[in-house]
Amino acid sequence: MKRDYYEILGVARDADADTVKKAYRKLAMQFHPDKNPGNKEAEDKFKEAARAYEVISNPEMRARFDRFGHQGVDGASGRGGPHFQDVGDIFESFGDIFGDFFGQGSGGDRRRGGSSTGPGRGADLRYVMEIELKDVITGIENPIEFQCEDNCKTCQGSGAQAGSKAETCSGCGGRGQIVRSQGFFSMASTCPQCRGRGTVITNPCKTCRGAGRAAVERKLLVKVPAGVDSGTQLRLTGEGESGIRGGPAGDLFVELRVRPDPRFERDGENLYAPLEIGYLQALLGAEVEIETLRGKKSLHVPKACQYGQQVKVSGQGLPSLRGSRVGDLVYVLKIVMPKKLSKEEEQLLRQIAESKGGKEKSGFFGL
Ligand SMILES: [Zn+2]
Ligand SMILES: [Zn+2]
Repeated sequence: MKRDYYEILGVARDADADTVKKAYRKLAMQFHPDKNPGNKEAEDKFKEAARAYEVISNPEMRARFDRFGHQGVDGASGRGGPHFQDVGDIFESFGDIFGDFFGQGSGGDRRRGGSSTGPGRGADLRYVMEIELKDVITGIENPIEFQCEDNCKTCQGSGAQAGSKAETCSGCGGRGQIVRSQGFFSMASTCPQCRGRGTVITNPCKTCRGAGRAAVERKLLVKVPAGVDSGTQLRLTGEGESGIRGGPAGDLFVELRVRPDPRFERDGENLYAPLEIGYLQALLGAEVEIETLRGKKSLHVPKACQYGQQVKVSGQGLPSLRGSRVGDLVYVLKIVMPKKLSKEEEQLLRQIAESKGGKEKSGFFGL
């Protein structure tokens, strides 16, 4: 079970950005690897706090977490990169927060644990898909098209023109970093010549101008299961952007929006709809034709109905996303009184009224 991010940070759900930052800073100091060398538990706490802060400090992710919990933010990263794999990644992301406390030396040194030269995971992608309410019954397969960054097809991601290849950077000897010494400290910084890659391309690929990456159109068939609702997120593992320098691909998150159907109101698996009937139908009962998501059907309205009474059609609602339950279609009766009475109708009603012994003048006919 994953712990609640607010609980991890020890802040209220409505805590402001400053409070969240302070709470995280306190935890980060407490479990800082420099203070707890070799302590695995502290390292885990340090990572857990960083993930909690990553989500809660990002307004968009925080909103998703508030609405959908862990499910809403799992796999997503505010910085487009992977989850924190190691402590170095945390310093890379939140180094500015530690800066005041641990000085540039400590933070800067750890940044080497980052991933500027190694393979990188491709970015996660998000796609919003609209479907119709009736598609919720059976699920649907929808083709989608989107643009994303992928390895350049001409050079297979190397960035070098065919027949040539990337050469080792002369600035850093291929390490991607330059180390300067200042007294007892040695500070590492990214090599400006190769921007940390360790290699330079002297003869760049014409298609991608040496970047190794290019925007491509992707087509995909997305299988939407039955029973989804607006806000349901589908995760298509490995369908995000392809990895950099052989790293794993990111994931594609498809967020669903179910277009409302004006005829029905949805509450989980149940559907509600108003049904207008005449006063005679309400009194005497009737068979009326109704529209369901599955087509026209006949509905039995029982005798002596009340205004607002609910008549349920079992199994004509929506299926549940997990499990085999199917909800109901519930009609809420609205009894429509006539605006005019025919002579004949009035006569007959007066007869009924008299037989009930009611007094016409008071307008009270008894029930
Ligand atoms: Zn290329
Ligand atoms: Zn270099």
